[in-house]
Amino acid sequence: MRLRLTVFLVLLVIELILSSPSRRFDGVAFEKFLIKARDVLDRVPLIDGHNDFPYSLRRYESNQVGDLDIYDLTTVEPWASSSSSHTDINRLRQGKVGAQFWSAYVPCSTQYKDAISKTWEQIDVIHRLVEANPTTFAFVTSAQEIEDAFAQGKIGSMVGVEGGHSIGSSLAVLRMMYDMGVRYMTMTHSCPTPWADNSQLDDPGNVPVHDGLTPFGRTVVAEMNRLGMLIDLSHVSRKTMRDALEISTAPVIFSHSSAYALCNNTRNVPDDILQLVAQNGGVVMVNFFVSYVTCGLTATVQDVADHIEHIRNIAGVDNVGVGSDFNGVARTPDGLKDVSQYPNLFAELLARGWTETDLEKVAGLNLLRALRGAESVRDQMAADGIKPFDEWIPQTDLPAEAQPCSTGEYKSQKLLTE
Ligand SMILES: [Zn+2]
Repeated sequence: MRLRLTVFLVLLVIELILSSPSRRFDGVAFEKFLIKARDVLDRVPLIDGHNDFPYSLRRYESNQVGDLDIYDLTTVEPWASSSSSHTDINRLRQGKVGAQFWSAYVPCSTQYKDAISKTWEQIDVIHRLVEANPTTFAFVTSAQEIEDAFAQGKIGSMVGVEGGHSIGSSLAVLRMMYDMGVRYMTMTHSCPTPWADNSQLDDPGNVPVHDGLTPFGRTVVAEMNRLGMLIDLSHVSRKTMRDALEISTAPVIFSHSSAYALCNNTRNVPDDILQLVAQNGGVVMVNFFVSYVTCGLTATVQDVADHIEHIRNIAGVDNVGVGSDFNGVARTPDGLKDVSQYPNLFAELLARGWTETDLEKVAGLNLLRALRGAESVRDQMAADGIKPFDEWIPQTDLPAEAQPCSTGEYKSQKLLTE
């Protein structure tokens, strides 16, 4: 009796191992998929929507990067011991990264203080990173320039500003950031701005501050459309997502968000919004952070592939991409530990029967299409004679804590004669 039970249990364990996703193919088969995946990433640029390496430069080096060699940071402290150090040139090359949105992020604690100057410092350090490594990186600002850099074997480098607090509710600051190469802005981070609600306000027990976008927030969307800057809806509340999707005339992105249906975290995108993204022609770039992938403490490359498949099933294969959040988080999935491991994800999709044509879309063609869409909206608005939107945020829209930091429009009819 005991022997039978033991045999049964052994068979059960073998069955469980064989049916687990990581064992659906053996090592030899996986190696074949990896070779194919690398071929795909040689043909089209792998464009990642979000990497916090610039914020690591602030945390570990105070942005004093003059003598920093970033070829191999696995042996340099404090990088080597950090659980959120996932990026260096050597590993970017192994991972076949074709283009990267580098995040210009400063925390919400800077709002109404020095958010704007600290954001400029992050934009500056991204420019310095590119200039110090000219054989690896090329600073790019358009879909065409991404393709040109890729053809030259360089990693096209773009700036995404993470959080609307970074513009200090000023369209003038937004415009100047565009001029310095910023090609998306995440409308909020983990705090509401005076014009948009963030995702945490959807958590149980919290209440909206604005119920989505305020009238000024809608003007921010319009000005971003006019500039040709992508609207990034990662980190915002559902109502902010809906408002932006309703009024934006250009494709939007989620630079680093996964599927809410698979992990109920408000940082992820619910199915009804995924359908709106499909209508808008936008792209949801899947986040690899374990907490957004499984809502648990561990995850695997297969779990990330599940999110990509879910978004394909609900929105479509034209509306999904990757936005790792590497260097911004501590816990990354097994098989996707750092930037060197992207090919594993594409090999996993091939093993699931995905075509190479569809992989090319996920890797980069979808983002290129969305960016081109934003560029053509910009060109059309210019052709239509649309002038820069130049309203100021009403002083009454600013919360009490912002008042000491604002002198308003500073308009005076009085001549400066005395
Ligand atoms: Zn983020």
